[in-house]
Amino acid sequence: MNQKKMIIFSAPSGSGKSTIINYLLKKGYPIEFSISATTREPRGEEKHGVEYYFFSLEEFKEKIDAGEFLEYEEVYENRFYGTLNSECERIWAKGKTIVFDVDVAGGIRLKELFGDRALAIFIQLPSFEELRRRLEMRNTETPEELEKRIGKAEFELQFSYMFDNIILNDVLENACKETEEIISKFLE
Ligand code: ADP
Ligand code: 5GP
Repeated sequence: MNQKKMIIFSAPSGSGKSTIINYLLKKGYPIEFSISATTREPRGEEKHGVEYYFFSLEEFKEKIDAGEFLEYEEVYENRFYGTLNSECERIWAKGKTIVFDVDVAGGIRLKELFGDRALAIFIQLPSFEELRRRLEMRNTETPEELEKRIGKAEFELQFSYMFDNIILNDVLENACKETEEIISKFLE
């Protein structure tokens, strides 16, 4: 039976959400990643319809007005990110559970909307020094953007208590295994 469930991953940027999600997606569970829409520029090899649907600010605002988003946030100034209703329907139509990588406000919004049908996981970073180190190593932001992300992390960390589970991502392998145990129970 298609129960239309979802698993939400939220955490400050650089905490390791994408890394843990990519680990889970390779494990053969009936889950699929929700491709968000964004107004940020593609970085590196990112392609429209793979990592994100990339839209101009104008296109994004048209979609807001047309009611096409399940949720959206202005995560950074003029940088909008959102989940399209069509994306959820596409995944649920296959009988799969949706996996979201959304900011903390978006995660809380989705949990409120979907209640027990949603498993909300917060990825906890070991320290701000380590967050800075990981973002510098990833090397995908300008120094200015990097500071914005670290500044926002301090704010976002206050809301971890609103999630169903908090996973400390210190040793990656442990964090992946712990997350896998939780999601396999949720999918049963
Ligand atoms: P997010 O999706 O939350 O922004 P990423 O998954 O892109 O974060 O991780 C940020 C960076 O930190 C990446 O370069 C990733 O390889 C690295 N990383 C993730 N988890 C760990 C970990 N446990 N230890 C060391 N580096 C990590
Ligand atoms: P990035 O630019 O690093 O890919 O993402 C920046 C932030 O936007 C991350 O915290 C990510 O989880 C969040 N994000 C990505 N897609 C969505 C979405 O659809 N909705 C919300 N609310 N946040 C999103």
